[in-house]
Amino acid sequence: MGIRVIDELKERIRRRAQDIGLAFLGVCQAGPVTGFDHYVEWANAGLAGAMQWMSRDLQKRSDPRTLMPGCRTVLVAGMNYGTGNGPALKASVLTGTIARYARGSDYHEVLKDRLTCLLSAAEEEAEHSIEGRIYVDTGPLLERDLAFAAGLGWRAKNTHLIHPRLGSYFFLGEILVDLDLEPDSPQPGRCGTCSRCLDLCPTGAFLGPGVLDARRCISYLTIELRGPIPRELRPAIGSMVFGCDICQEVCPWNRRAPASDDPAYASRAGLDPVDLIRILGLTQAEFSLQFRGSAIKRTKRSGLLRNAAVALGNSRDCSAVPALVRALEDSEALVRGHAAWALGQIGGPSAILSLRHRLAIEPDLWVQDEITDALKEQTDTQEPAGGQPPVQGPLCNPTNL
Ligand code: SF4
Ligand code: SF4
Repeated sequence: MGIRVIDELKERIRRRAQDIGLAFLGVCQAGPVTGFDHYVEWANAGLAGAMQWMSRDLQKRSDPRTLMPGCRTVLVAGMNYGTGNGPALKASVLTGTIARYARGSDYHEVLKDRLTCLLSAAEEEAEHSIEGRIYVDTGPLLERDLAFAAGLGWRAKNTHLIHPRLGSYFFLGEILVDLDLEPDSPQPGRCGTCSRCLDLCPTGAFLGPGVLDARRCISYLTIELRGPIPRELRPAIGSMVFGCDICQEVCPWNRRAPASDDPAYASRAGLDPVDLIRILGLTQAEFSLQFRGSAIKRTKRSGLLRNAAVALGNSRDCSAVPALVRALEDSEALVRGHAAWALGQIGGPSAILSLRHRLAIEPDLWVQDEITDALKEQTDTQEPAGGQPPVQGPLCNPTNL
């Protein structure tokens, strides 16, 4: 096929992508991925933390042809999930924030369906069958590097891909095809001297431009990490209970990023923001029902309740104490331990008494340690030097309890 013919075919496929509800489509040739060496260095340095799958199958990430030997071209599609300007609403001190991408339906399912339609549409346009494999976060593909190669944006200092018109609030999915199409051209980087994302990350997770220590990132700590959140990082998590958007919110390229009008990504009721007390009280059945078809189910119940407990601790609000005391009885040690930490942050007689009662019967060693630490926190903040009798906790007025 001549260049002109395959160029026309690409434009027809691009138009079909828009009809299907994909915000944009880029094309790159199948071949060695340019960001591969950087990725290997990052993974080998242990910066992926407990996300062991990111360090597996490294060679398969080097070239899409290792996944599909007949692959000639990669179609990279994006769907916008932006919610408009400004940070998420924060209705009260007892509400928490869910990252924008997770407030609507699970993008994996939505995007995979649309890419399946796009593959059929491409076959219609090409007038022959096409061998194709679809990926939406489902295989060892370096999707941001492929999207960069397909001209969809530049690799920014915050590690996201930034599209000059749409900013960075979009999902990516890929189709590997045995079809020749004219590749698009990569875009130049436009971060310039800006460093807002690096400077304003609350946990200091960036080791440098484009280098993220995932072990410190709130998205990792609240979603991917299965066990306890390191104590020293809990205060910096603030009110975030699932993911973090800060390094995208502060980016000037997102100031004019359009809100998605795709109904699939409209916020579900009660997620913008979330009621932390309600989350902390969810049973397994309620959790499963509420988060069916949502990316939030990835944390499982214990992870989400853990995160809600941390956010309540960071609120330092006495009215959270009764719910946290109930969470000391939770069947999951992970929840009990973080509830203990939160009670230690809030303090006050009721919190201290409940922690002491629980310590007497708590069977889990790690939770015992969290309770002991929480009680020590209170001793340290309440007992003045010189052996004076304990005074009222500085954070919580008992008349509010
Ligand atoms: Fe930092 Fe949040 Fe960005 Fe993670 S998502 S790097 S915690 S600003
Ligand atoms: Fe680049 Fe600045 Fe945006 Fe960070 S905040 S990604 S440095 S433009």
